[in-house]
Amino acid sequence: MDYHSPMSIKEIKIKTSLHYHDNEFACNWDLNVYRGCGHRCIYCFAQYSHKYLESEEFFDDIFVKTNVAEALHADFSKRSWNGSPVNICGVTDGYQPLEAQYMLMPRIIQTFIRHRNPMIITTKSTLLLRDIDLLEELNKIASVYVQASVSSMDESIRTKIEPNASPTSDRLYMLGELHKRGINTGVLMMPIIPHLTDNDENLDAIFKLAKENGTLTLHAQVLHLRGNTKKVFFDHMQIFFPELVEKIKFLYNGSYVKKEYVDMFYQKISFLRKKYNFYNKIPLHKCQKQNVQLSLIWEV
Ligand code: SF4
Repeated sequence: MDYHSPMSIKEIKIKTSLHYHDNEFACNWDLNVYRGCGHRCIYCFAQYSHKYLESEEFFDDIFVKTNVAEALHADFSKRSWNGSPVNICGVTDGYQPLEAQYMLMPRIIQTFIRHRNPMIITTKSTLLLRDIDLLEELNKIASVYVQASVSSMDESIRTKIEPNASPTSDRLYMLGELHKRGINTGVLMMPIIPHLTDNDENLDAIFKLAKENGTLTLHAQVLHLRGNTKKVFFDHMQIFFPELVEKIKFLYNGSYVKKEYVDMFYQKISFLRKKYNFYNKIPLHKCQKQNVQLSLIWEV
């Protein structure tokens, strides 16, 4: 492996695969293929989730749900399952580096095909292209929506803040390949880091390349620093960008950036969204089998 491998890989068996939540994003059901994530993003919001596994090493203690496709089939087969769209993943990345070895995603997509269930995938990896034929097949009978999460077009920054993810431009080109196959895509510009990735040049470049690659939606969010994320983030910033640490801290009240910054930032995003003509809402799709609407409404 040519990336910084996790220190510990634990294979586990699960009884149920789907997790319900009430958050503001997308749909209400998540499927987490792994726990922990080898992309090692210094701002990772999901680190809190490892406390339920009694581990503090989110990047180094990776749990692999080896029977996840079987558990998903059992969940989809329940009479109570209503065919809701399912998001892959909520607190990890299904296409993180270990997926090249474990190949769990193809079997998961096959299970979605078998049950004609709508799917949303959010990823920072072009490894997803390995499964493009399966995604195309699913998209013909249910909805598939793929979102690339991105922060910086500058590779000298990207390699420091998301060291094991794919280059940002490659993620956006990946959306172009999906678009050619008729699969709808979006960009999540998340998180934007004040003073580091919020400059006009970076934002405009992401909007432009997203548009050129047929992306329908683009949503942006400024970095949140909840729980352990704050310490991990500033420890890394101190190493890579020490001159920015105090400037960024000045902008934050606790876990959230100050309102003045938020207002200024979303003015920029609103201008760019109009300039490049992006939708605010993900269009509706229907699951042909169960007539379930995939209704994703993300307002910023
Ligand atoms: S890809 Fe997502 S889950 Fe993985 S480290 Fe980065 S932010 Fe965390």
